[in-house]
Amino acid sequence: MNKHAGAAQWDPSPNNLEPFWMGFTPNRAFKKKPRLIARAKDMHYYDMTGRPVLDATAGLWCSNAGHCRDRIVEAIQKQAGELDFAPTFQFGHPKVFELSSRLANLAPGDLNYAFFCNSGSEAADTALKIALAYHRAKGQASRTRLIGRERGYHGVNFGGISVGGMVANRKFFGTMLAGVDHLPHTYNRAEQAFTKGEPTWGAHLADELERLVALHDASTIAAVIVEPMAGSTGVLPPPVGYLKKLREICDKHGILLIFDEVITGFGRLGYPFAAERFGVIPDMITFAKGVTSGAIPMGGVMARQHIYDAFMSGPDHMIELFHGYTYSGHPIAAAAGVATLEVYKEEGLFERALKLEDKWADAAMTLKGKPHVADIRTMGLVAAIDLNSIDGSPGKRGYDAMEKGFHDFGIMLRITGDTIALSPPLIIKEEQIGEIFEDKLPKLLAAI
Ligand code: PMP
Repeated sequence: MNKHAGAAQWDPSPNNLEPFWMGFTPNRAFKKKPRLIARAKDMHYYDMTGRPVLDATAGLWCSNAGHCRDRIVEAIQKQAGELDFAPTFQFGHPKVFELSSRLANLAPGDLNYAFFCNSGSEAADTALKIALAYHRAKGQASRTRLIGRERGYHGVNFGGISVGGMVANRKFFGTMLAGVDHLPHTYNRAEQAFTKGEPTWGAHLADELERLVALHDASTIAAVIVEPMAGSTGVLPPPVGYLKKLREICDKHGILLIFDEVITGFGRLGYPFAAERFGVIPDMITFAKGVTSGAIPMGGVMARQHIYDAFMSGPDHMIELFHGYTYSGHPIAAAAGVATLEVYKEEGLFERALKLEDKWADAAMTLKGKPHVADIRTMGLVAAIDLNSIDGSPGKRGYDAMEKGFHDFGIMLRITGDTIALSPPLIIKEEQIGEIFEDKLPKLLAAI
């Protein structure tokens, strides 16, 4: 292997592709026929030859403002030249406080405090740790159990995979966190197929939490973590009333409720956070992705007043929370975050998503009856299209769709198994909705 190919002469030859060990990717297949992206602007990626590829997934559910937006790019450049790094342990810098205030204003209810990290995975583990420490601070150290949900995705760190419900992300890694239970997932094709928005069937599944309380006793349970709408496991909008029921049961038993809004935050469902859409205020919200429109890694946790207050009772020179990352509230990420929130606000992108929701859902549903389509679900600017699996090869049809989408039809799709998940930047134009559902996807479905 030639280890010394410089960036200037980079070409996608096998030697140059080999050293990068790609996550969540079949490396060997990719390296035989790579899908390389060289540039991006607004709704499009461009491959190495300059061919445009319509971004129907906002990268990885993150580029909500579209790509390479001038305002965000300039903020990053300016900040990099002014203050490249400053610690946020024992010190601070203006941008991280500015971003915190803006997030506190954006979040519903008294979710008034922002804790920063660098990814959704770190956000999930941070929220779980805060939940455990919260109960200790309140003198209830027996509350150590954590409850997630089947088909939940909370990133790839040990806390996240423990409360998460994706077998492939768990089974290779041995011991998970102890004392974790899972609620059932809320998808039932027989009852819910081809539903736009919240399905009417399924609120009763929240009662499973009562069963777990009866089994373990509330005094042992710290928190429940769910995505308001499960994203990475195939887009599962919550049944009508389900999240309210979870909130009620948590309140009744003193259990904290955490919403993982890494996908649903920042306009994806037409609101700053999905909590507002569903009228349920959780005790903590995790976020990442859209906070910087994907331009710089950043994640975090919004916490309610009572959570923060619980940590503030000791002597005031004492550290209250023994948790944080070197790059928590990194100045460049914080600057990107502030600029991104300005773009969302000035362009009314969350409202735009809400306004386009019906058109988007109707357009997605026109794929019903097309080859291989088994179910379609929509909510906000998200749609999932379940494809029938090829016998004996689960995931193969989905992979083919993603690959052909990129190479042959100029569209970037996200797949999970045999489900295509669509979540375009919120700047999508109506004619681009047509391009996806009337042109590219029908042709693609006929070709796989
Ligand atoms: N939580 C949710 C709900 C997610 O969708 C994701 C990523 N798709 C994560 C956590 C993990 O985020 P990251 O990949 O930034 O660690």
